Amino acid sequence: MPLGDLERDRMNLCDIKTVKQIMAMFHLTFHKEFGQNFLTDRMVVEDIAEECCADPDSTILEIGPGIGTLTYELALRRREVISLEIDRGLIPVLQYTLGEFDNVRVINEDVMQTDLEALLRPYFEKGSVSVCANLPYYITTPILMKLFESGLPFEYITVMIQAEVADRLCAVAGSKDYGAITAVLAYYGEAEKLFTVPADRFVPAPKVNSTVIRIRLYHEKPCRPKDEKLLFRTIKAAFGQRRKTLANVLGTGFSELSREQINEAIALCGHRADIRGEKLDIAQFTALSDVLYGMLNS
Ligand code: SAM
Repeated sequence: MPLGDLERDRMNLCDIKTVKQIMAMFHLTFHKEFGQNFLTDRMVVEDIAEECCADPDSTILEIGPGIGTLTYELALRRREVISLEIDRGLIPVLQYTLGEFDNVRVINEDVMQTDLEALLRPYFEKGSVSVCANLPYYITTPILMKLFESGLPFEYITVMIQAEVADRLCAVAGSKDYGAITAVLAYYGEAEKLFTVPADRFVPAPKVNSTVIRIRLYHEKPCRPKDEKLLFRTIKAAFGQRRKTLANVLGTGFSELSREQINEAIALCGHRADIRGEKLDIAQFTALSDVLYGMLNS
């Protein structure tokens, strides 16, 4: 491999010129369809690696290492790093940029196809596992849902995502950004915004700013619905048509119940008849789904 005048020891993966030089050296172009916007702000990369979890002894699952910028800082700070990268072309780059580490395992795989349980079981046996990633924006929500639904007891999920999506995920009930995904996330854990990163800190620069959020997953969920699927169905129905009353949207989403039953369920939960679904927090959705469960199973 002709390395040109780039020496690994002096390599600064946050330097835009170096990133472009590495891509050229391996005859690669940035794949827009894979959401390839690589971070070039050293402080941001270090902060993410620092803040992603408290325990230096933990294993980190990274999704989309790119050329290894964040991976490098994670490898310096954590016991082990498992990185899943969909783009086969980046694998030789990662072997090159991360060659000095024996605690990094790079796997050429689409995270959506990965059996996370099988992959991570040995690491959970050794200690805590957290997720840390600068996520590809085209697939943020499906990746988060896959992580939640895996049921794996991750300690933290720290991800860089579009600022607008972060606003939605961290919104409080009743606010303009609050949506079904906010309520679903609140079922699995507690999200907080860490910091916002301007678009010009990436190469190539995306069109929007990004925000790093950290989700602390509940190991004991505070809300325990009688039927989890019914809870999600209730949330989905409640956000089906914004600006309509909860009674109206539940009438559409639960056509097997009469309008009187729906009104009764809303009243039994202590809500006004004209309340809108977006006012309910996850505990109130859980209570409502439990009342609906009783009606559907009586
Ligand atoms: N971590 C690097 C950084 O911060 O500079 C790159 C982040 S870039 C926003 C997203 C990365 O995710 C790219 O390397 C892309 O190829 C990879 N990627 C996209 N879709 C993926 C998928 N389904 N599974 C695994 N990796 C994926």
